[in-house]
Amino acid sequence: MIVGIIGGGQLARMLALAAHPLGVRCIFLDPSPDACARSVGDLLLGHYDDTRLLDLMADQAQVVTCEFESVPAESLQYLSRRAFVYPSAQALEVARDRWYEKQLFASLGIPTPPFMPVDSWQDLESAVTVMGLPAMLKTRTMGYDGKGQWVLRKPRDLAPAFAALGGAPLILEGFVPFDREVSVIAVRGVTGETRFYPLTENVHQNGVLAQSLARPTDPLAEQAYFYAQRLLDHLQYVGVFALELFQRGAELLANEMAPRVHNSGHWTIEGAETSQFENHMRAVLGLPLGGTKSLGYAGMVNFVGTIPEAEHVLAIPGAHFHVYGKTARAGRKLGHATVRAADEAGVCEALSMLRALACS
Ligand code: AMP
Repeated sequence: MIVGIIGGGQLARMLALAAHPLGVRCIFLDPSPDACARSVGDLLLGHYDDTRLLDLMADQAQVVTCEFESVPAESLQYLSRRAFVYPSAQALEVARDRWYEKQLFASLGIPTPPFMPVDSWQDLESAVTVMGLPAMLKTRTMGYDGKGQWVLRKPRDLAPAFAALGGAPLILEGFVPFDREVSVIAVRGVTGETRFYPLTENVHQNGVLAQSLARPTDPLAEQAYFYAQRLLDHLQYVGVFALELFQRGAELLANEMAPRVHNSGHWTIEGAETSQFENHMRAVLGLPLGGTKSLGYAGMVNFVGTIPEAEHVLAIPGAHFHVYGKTARAGRKLGHATVRAADEAGVCEALSMLRALACS
């Protein structure tokens, strides 16, 4: 059995590693000759809309999936004539555009920060008049890891932000003074069966995920699962899915969704009965889903820009090291460590040691 993956980065690589024991091989389509997944499967080198390569993928793969949301819709439609494609083009279309995404949240009764589309300077001025400051100005598409977004605190911030982002369709969001950020990682199979991992608490640094901590007994988990379930059922979704939320007091506000395996779910590799990567493979292949319970207490620290020595990471009790094989560059995700402990104090202590290594 062969699964095609659009994209050949670290998510594709970890999907292929999880597929291997199931007797499944992966092939990747990626325009970069350095795509780090190529060491664990075959790389089709070229653009995402290259029909010759899409044909080559469909010749071999019975199922195709994606490691990112900005895949051209035409490519997915083209592939879906010859292979099963999960998640659907519709799910990706909504998830790659913050305006569509927020409208979907609102239409399903999922609370969000206030938001308005901004297509011109006049739109921006009137949106700020309605919403007030501070606010976040973001590009509707292609924004990730804090890219394509500006915090507007004072009226004088509007012009430079608009100049930097203007030209692209934008969205203005109310700035949320959140207490914490959480994410729901869920998996939905072809039968509609859905399983949720424990709610994950996330810390970002400069818009990039720095640390995740699984919270197996979080009091807000049921609320977050309820929102995610609505989205999953509405989209008739198949595969792993993430919903990122802000907590403010007792309230959860949806920030964004990801129609794929997610960085805040990396702790599941060693920290859950079945990792998010294996469960994604099981879901898209129509296999029974695996358990999503955490094994004790678990967390993850990202290594961004630089990566510590293995001997230092592995000296921390309960830590496992994952290196993506990418060339180091500022702001680039190069690897992560997961950690497991018998209690929350133990996992938090290990996470702070790992954070110190990540920053050194
Ligand atoms: P995003 O790319 O939308 O996930 O944003 C990256 C990070 O920026 C989030 O994880 C938050 O830490 C922060 N952020 C994004 N939107 C808002 C908002 N409306 N209010 C406050 N912080 C935000």
